[in-house]
Amino acid sequence: MFNGILIRKDELGYRAELTALDEQQLPAGDVTVKVLASTLNYKDALAISGKSPVVRTFPMVPGIDLVGEVLHSGSPRFQSGDKVLLNGFGVGENHWGGLAEKARLNSDWLLPLPAAFTPEQAMAIGTAGYTAMLSILALQKHGITPEHGEILVTGANGGVGSYAVRLLSKLGYTVVACTGRLNESDYLKQLGAAEILPREQLSTAGKPLQKERWAGVIDCVGSHTLANACASTRYGGAVAACGLAQGMDFPVTVAPFILRGVTLYGIDSVMRPLADRSEAWQHLSELLQPADFDQIASVISLEQVVATATRLLQGDIRGRVIVKI
Ligand code: NDP
Repeated sequence: MFNGILIRKDELGYRAELTALDEQQLPAGDVTVKVLASTLNYKDALAISGKSPVVRTFPMVPGIDLVGEVLHSGSPRFQSGDKVLLNGFGVGENHWGGLAEKARLNSDWLLPLPAAFTPEQAMAIGTAGYTAMLSILALQKHGITPEHGEILVTGANGGVGSYAVRLLSKLGYTVVACTGRLNESDYLKQLGAAEILPREQLSTAGKPLQKERWAGVIDCVGSHTLANACASTRYGGAVAACGLAQGMDFPVTVAPFILRGVTLYGIDSVMRPLADRSEAWQHLSELLQPADFDQIASVISLEQVVATATRLLQGDIRGRVIVKI
């Protein structure tokens, strides 16, 4: 037996609780791991609360990220005792995930844990940090360098936003952090933000074309914020859209794209090929230091996951949450 968060949906309703599970209940897969650490992402909080249809099959163990130690492997890529990293691939949505003491996974989804990181540090990064890195790589591949000007990061106090601010600043970019939590301005400045922009300046309907300001944008919130970000991106600039914390809608016109040559990159972390993941984790290994995790992440236990998920959806959690298993 082992402990895990189990989400059920039946005649008693939708609920998530810490439960004793039987190893025989684990789904099919060629690698079984002892989970060493996991984390709580926005998507995990949605799955646990049932506020969005993240979970496809029930019962489900949530947790889109994990670091595990291999117990049994049917794959030549991994041996018992290896430490492996998983981000996404539908785990925690349609395959039992990382918020439990054990998991059984498909070896095609796994990367070796990067040598630079402990299990907790890799989970301090998690899908949020890896998505921030994918977004930055999209802007860099577009040709945007620090000399091109300011980069806007929206939802800056969240997990993706915090890493986007920290990593961009380490790379020498001038970062403007947009947030609804001005009381966390000192935190954002410590991460490297040069300026703080109140959320209200971007979150309501704006003109199709606005004063050109941003060389690039990393947007975690969607809706009017993303539309306004596109409308104020400079000629030839690029916007990396990765989130929907404000909303799934996108009330924009084609003006920024056809009159200013703005490019909108969609960032998906879930089904990203292993080669892109390795590239992103390689950059993360080179850029991040232990002090970064102390700034950005806090640690909770499995027992605290359900209550913390509610706080995360209320916008009450700053940065990242590591779940120590
Ligand atoms: P967090 O909950 O940690 O952060 C979200 C942040 O968005 C909040 O901290 C807040 O920042 C801001 N925010 C929340 N509500 C609103 C609102 N109503 N209007 C405007 N801003 C708001 O989530 P993550 O950082 O983990 O994820 C951010 C987004 O990216 C989510 O939508 C998530 O689903 C998505 N995502 C997508 C991935 C992909 O593969 N494309 C991968 C990972 C995440 P502040 O307080 O600073 O305003």
